[in-house]
Amino acid sequence: MSDAHVHHQLSPESIRFCPLCGVGLERRTVPPEGKQEMVCTGCSFIFYLNHKVVAATIPEHEGRVLLTRRTIQTGLKVDLGGVLGVYSYAGTPIVIVVYRARVVGGEIRICHENDRVEWVHPADIPWDDLAFPSTQAALRDLLSARSD
Ligand SMILES: [Zn+2]
Repeated sequence: MSDAHVHHQLSPESIRFCPLCGVGLERRTVPPEGKQEMVCTGCSFIFYLNHKVVAATIPEHEGRVLLTRRTIQTGLKVDLGGVLGVYSYAGTPIVIVVYRARVVGGEIRICHENDRVEWVHPADIPWDDLAFPSTQAALRDLLSARSD
C-alpha cells in the first residue's frame, strides 16, 4: 500500500524505456549540439526530455477522412481505433501520437481556429497543401493500414 501515493515524474532518472519499441534507453551525446539525451539502444529514437507529447486523431467516415485547416477539436464524437503511429522529427520538440478514430456522433463545428473542415476521399487528399510532415505521414500510414 505504501507505493499507492508515490508520484512518478518524467525526468532523466525516471525514463528507462523507449516509447516506440520498448527497449532500454541510455544517455548518449547527440549531434549537432553534443547534448546528452536519452537514446534508445534498439531503434535509436532520441527521447528529448523537453518534448511535448501531442495526441491527434484522423476521423474516418464512409471511407473518407476528415481534414481541418488547424488541428483542433471538431465537435465530433469518435471511438478511438488504436494508435496509428507516433511521429517525431529532428529539431522539432513535439512527439505526435496519432489515433485512428471512427465517427459515432456529434457534429462538425466551424470556429475561428478552424475555418475549413471537409471530408475528403483518399484520392482527393491535397498532399502538397498539408501543413505538417506528420499529417502527411499519418495519412499515408492510415491508407496503407486500410489496404492491409
Ligand atoms: Zn526504440
